[in-house]
Amino acid sequence: MNQNKLKDLIGSGESTEMMPVLFVGHGSPMNAIEENEFVLSWRELGKSIPWPRAILCISAHWETSGTLVTAMHKPSTIHDFGGFPPELYNVQYPVQGSPELAYDVKRTITSTEVGLDEKWGLDHGAWSVIRNIYPGADVPVIEMSLDWHLTPQNHYELGTELAPLRKKGVLIIGSGNIVHNLRMIAWDHATEPDYGFDWALRANEIFKGLIRGNNHKDLINYPRLGIDVQMAVPTPDHYLPLLYSLALKEENETISFFNDKPVMGSLSMTSIRIG
Ligand code: ZN
Repeated sequence: MNQNKLKDLIGSGESTEMMPVLFVGHGSPMNAIEENEFVLSWRELGKSIPWPRAILCISAHWETSGTLVTAMHKPSTIHDFGGFPPELYNVQYPVQGSPELAYDVKRTITSTEVGLDEKWGLDHGAWSVIRNIYPGADVPVIEMSLDWHLTPQNHYELGTELAPLRKKGVLIIGSGNIVHNLRMIAWDHATEPDYGFDWALRANEIFKGLIRGNNHKDLINYPRLGIDVQMAVPTPDHYLPLLYSLALKEENETISFFNDKPVMGSLSMTSIRIG
């Protein structure tokens, strides 16, 4: 390590330990308040990861023109859904933001001008999951948006630029669902555990095989993966956060799956931990 690098690290109090990267299937917003197997594994996750300095979450639920990061000190808890019981609307996740990290992301990404946002906050793609991983609300959280002008390849490349943050104690979480077709939800099986349509199960296995095999090229070009995958990803929003997480995987890093279960017929909660 050269002297300047060492001085930088000492000066900033940053750790050199490489943080893992997550992709979390968030599913129904009700996971924020329900007790179920998915939530239990989120809680365990929090205990098994080195304590992060801050979290950067790329959520399926924030699409914008251009890439933005939340830069406020105190992000609001956004209840960006309808038709759920009042107790879900009463949930607040009183976590700090991190304008410093927002600025660091802006500086780190050089391929595009990242905008600093003061209006958004945390949507349920972020808080429904993170409040279970860190129930004490003691790790600052920022979100990064999905620029709707970008191709999947562009999103993946943008993801690779976030790599230096992993060595600065930042836990990067992509939050979406790799199988997510809301129009085909099996409402009559909504509470039945492990209920997945055949096409959804097949799509889930196709994705897992490609993830295990580090075949990111095919994962980026997912519309070419056949009808099952096309049904699993009718719109890109819940899939793209996966590409950000995969883009950060180093060659020798291990990958593990958790919450690998179908729900409501047309969704899977399949999640990954890298490193
Ligand atoms: Zn969602």
